[in-house]
Amino acid sequence: MLIKNINGISNSNCACGNWLKHWENFSHYQSISFCVVKNCCNRDLDGVHVQKADSPLDEWYIIPLCSVHKTSKGELEITDAYKLVSANKKETCEK
Ligand SMILES: [Zn+2]
Ligand SMILES: [Zn+2]
Repeated sequence: MLIKNINGISNSNCACGNWLKHWENFSHYQSISFCVVKNCCNRDLDGVHVQKADSPLDEWYIIPLCSVHKTSKGELEITDAYKLVSANKKETCEK
């Protein structure tokens, strides 16, 4: 799956405490060890706002990325096993 990292949203936190916790809470993965970008083994993760590269919709998702990929612009290929979690608080933790 291709995602776009365009750093478009300020990093204000949600009710989960931080966006990585938000991803864990709503992805139903108990924990994550590595960055979700293919062939990346970095462990310094943060929950980052991204969009689907092939979607015409302006929807925001959270995905765990390392400090390198967090700041890299453009499209990233991620491992399909990991779910994108909606960044829309009204549909998740602040429902
Ligand atoms: Zn949350
Ligand atoms: Zn990475």
